Amino acid sequence: MQKPSRTIYLDHAATTAVDPRVVEAMLPYFNPQYGNASSIYRLGQEAGKAIDDARRMVADILGCQPREVIFTSCGTESDNLALRGVGWARRNLGKGNHIITSPIEHHAVSHTCEQLEKHFGFEITYLPVDKYGMVDPDDVRRAIKDDTILISIIYANNEVGTIEPLAEIGRIAKEKGVPFHTDAVQAGGSLSLDVNELNVDLLSLSAHKFYGPKGVGVLYARQGVSLLPTQTGGGHERNRRAGTENVPYIVGLATALRIAYDELEANNQRISALRDRLIAGVLESIDEVELTGHPTSRLPTSASFAFKYIEGESVLLNLDLAGISASSGSACTSASLEASHVLLAMGIPPELAQGSLRLTPGRENTTEDIDYVLGILPSIVQKLRDMSPLYSN
Ligand code: PLP
Repeated sequence: MQKPSRTIYLDHAATTAVDPRVVEAMLPYFNPQYGNASSIYRLGQEAGKAIDDARRMVADILGCQPREVIFTSCGTESDNLALRGVGWARRNLGKGNHIITSPIEHHAVSHTCEQLEKHFGFEITYLPVDKYGMVDPDDVRRAIKDDTILISIIYANNEVGTIEPLAEIGRIAKEKGVPFHTDAVQAGGSLSLDVNELNVDLLSLSAHKFYGPKGVGVLYARQGVSLLPTQTGGGHERNRRAGTENVPYIVGLATALRIAYDELEANNQRISALRDRLIAGVLESIDEVELTGHPTSRLPTSASFAFKYIEGESVLLNLDLAGISASSGSACTSASLEASHVLLAMGIPPELAQGSLRLTPGRENTTEDIDYVLGILPSIVQKLRDMSPLYSN
């Protein structure tokens, strides 16, 4: 296959390049400062101090106590620990077994809920969402019962970028005394993570979404929220998550988060202008396409569409041939293409949901990148439509 003349990465919701300043901060903790933070000699104590400093940096951005920050191996683990940890602990305390969530969660939450229901006897309520993928806080209020032990709602959706009304949902949860978890993996690095403003009790993050390394995450757990560890062993992370701490990655996560929030405004302004250029350009130059997700309450990094008559996967392959990395909302499972559960929950018909495309600009993108995509995408869509038996012009 011939290599395209340029490469444009527009899939920052999938992952980001590690910032060189982050790599630099991490390197000493591979060698020479490779100590185990549990060891009592100097090398170990230095590793312990690096983790303490990282924990303070994260706590500073979340507006919480350092002891409320738990380092994990990824965003998926943070979500798992929140749901199972709180679910098991509160059920053991006789508080009930009912969990409220949305139908547009990442699989890290939705598959965990499914397992809790199928194998552990929990009852799960899935709230409706509107056509933009937005949860109505009043529906949360109505769904809460005496035996509700946890609410988990994503902060910003990974497929369509819609930002949920967390503070309002959190206020209701607090009023009713139900712990409130949010999967903030997509929001981390571009939206406020102040846990008190957001009224959340648990919040999940993953470093690789904000220019940190893959394989390290955070679960914020408010002091007083019961949490049974799901991974047992040593007494790491105040007995909430056993396993020798991954010092370089923890340092990398905290450094990346610090940089993201120091530079938040400038980056958000620049990247949201790229997003808006993309959205306007696609809607102007292509017929029969819908913007998916909320028109205004959406991540600064997220542009997502559904094209009639074609499959998103085919658009992706053609974009890739032109050097453009993007993603679609549909998950390719087994032999059949399954439409995204997020788009279906938003009421988008399956045939339109098949034609989904997600373009997520980031720090290194330029206006020229966007214009290059806008120059190519209409002809790709037209070519695929011309081949489609569903299309007649
Ligand atoms: N939650 C959301 C919303 C995500 O977008 C992702 C990753 O795509 C995850 C959780 C999982 O994070 P990780 O890749 O660190 O396991």
